[in-house]
Amino acid sequence: PCIFDITAKRAELAGSDIAMEEVATGRTVTYAALDERAARAAGLLLSLGVGEGDRVAILCRNRIEFFEMLFACAKMGAILVPLNWRMPAAEIRPLLADSAPRVLFFGDEDAGVAADLSGDVPLRVGLDTDYAERRDATPAHAGRRLWPADGIWYLLYTSGTTGTPKAVIYTFTMAMVNYINISQPIGLTARDTTLNFLPLFHTAGINLHTLPTLIIGGRVLIMPGFDVDVMLDLVAAGRVDAIFGVPAIYQMLSLHPRFASVDLTRLRSWGCGGAPLSDQLVQRFLERGVRVCNGMGMTETGPTAFIMDPNRVAEKIGSVGKPQVLAGVRIVGPDGVDVTPGEAGELWFGGPGITPGYWNRPDATAAAFSADGWLKSGDLARCDADGFYYIVGRIKEMFISGGENVYPAEVENVLSQHPAILEAAVVGVPDEKWGEVGCAHILPRPGQTIPPADELTLFCRERLAPFKVPKSFVAVTDFPRTAAGKVQKHRLQH
Ligand code: ATP
Ligand code: MG
Repeated sequence: PCIFDITAKRAELAGSDIAMEEVATGRTVTYAALDERAARAAGLLLSLGVGEGDRVAILCRNRIEFFEMLFACAKMGAILVPLNWRMPAAEIRPLLADSAPRVLFFGDEDAGVAADLSGDVPLRVGLDTDYAERRDATPAHAGRRLWPADGIWYLLYTSGTTGTPKAVIYTFTMAMVNYINISQPIGLTARDTTLNFLPLFHTAGINLHTLPTLIIGGRVLIMPGFDVDVMLDLVAAGRVDAIFGVPAIYQMLSLHPRFASVDLTRLRSWGCGGAPLSDQLVQRFLERGVRVCNGMGMTETGPTAFIMDPNRVAEKIGSVGKPQVLAGVRIVGPDGVDVTPGEAGELWFGGPGITPGYWNRPDATAAAFSADGWLKSGDLARCDADGFYYIVGRIKEMFISGGENVYPAEVENVLSQHPAILEAAVVGVPDEKWGEVGCAHILPRPGQTIPPADELTLFCRERLAPFKVPKSFVAVTDFPRTAAGKVQKHRLQH
């Protein structure tokens, strides 16, 4: 019915095949059933007065109904706005004011927050109360005949690592470009089963590798949240071919008692991204026969821009790989001119996979793009002689000590090589003599305590230039983090 109707196409090609399975409940849905439900849900949206271009908010854990709503929006032209269920109502309220949805769908776990938001959205529908009944009582909507390439499908709020989240516009073209950029390097096919445990309000949860798997006609296993034991059982049973995690997930896996004994080699593709991945963690997995492929992207880039070739992981530790086929990439100096190869500069992105901008935020959009349309990432990167890229750090996090630039990610990577340290977060603090100096917040490994400052200073001195060595070390029991496990440095006490 519509030139861009993934579920209708798949229902035709792979109707009785299972599209998704919820690991926790055992619920499954075939491609034909998913298409039928999405068509009825599209009818339901229309009957609720939701029109083309209207927003539909959803607040729920990872579950099949999320995809019914996503494809329902595709069929009738509304824009899905997934909300972060880790946020209290007070944090969600401004996002509802920003995206102004006509209706909010919510799951039982989040019914309390949804109730608190009753004054902020005209309509609310409970996914565990009346949704299924109302969906099934509604005739299937036939779907749109044509879809403009720049049609908006959904909005995703950025992680909020550096400040207030902004809603990134996702078009159909972006979803297709991401599908090409990720399915090629990981060799995704219709025979593959991917496992999704990252939250669906995050670009990695929805796009790596969930939507690409549904586009190609494979199977998606979904978990409501990450559970190491359940995941290891699935891996040991050979039920999963590809996963995508963030460094915090790989950290949890490496600390688990079964990490040393389970056969991990039956899972083919181990992707990681979203935050700096320490060399030490990559090594730990290599020792277990697993090549973790670091990749880099942003909510704004769809997200896949870079991903490591598994065959080069051991040789190029620390690299995020090469730009993928439809990702345009430049490394640019402060003067707006490309740096000489090998130098560090700001990473700029271009091409059909990049967002047209932020919803409702022309100011933020104008600030993020260059005059000729390149997205300025705010990240520093360099490229080696073989064309492999390395993320040096965020420009916002860089500080200047005695006139020299210090990139916290480099110092953190060194600190995490210390046997007593699980994770470190370095920030610049004012200093009378040097202008700014590093202050390292240290999370010790389980059962360990933070080593004395002079030992840590010596450890860093042996591995870093003196101006990069932190002048103070603070023990912490955890960090303020985003939903993806990223440390929010602006919230660290200093
Ligand atoms: P906000 O934009 O709201 O401050 P955010 O930038 O963390 O939050 P995301 O779009 O989820 O939101 O994250 C993209 C950022 O994550 C990139 O700009 C980069 O700083 C960082 N990042 C992603 N992948 C990697 C990686 N492999 N190594 C280092 N940093 C990474
Ligand atoms: Mg960002």
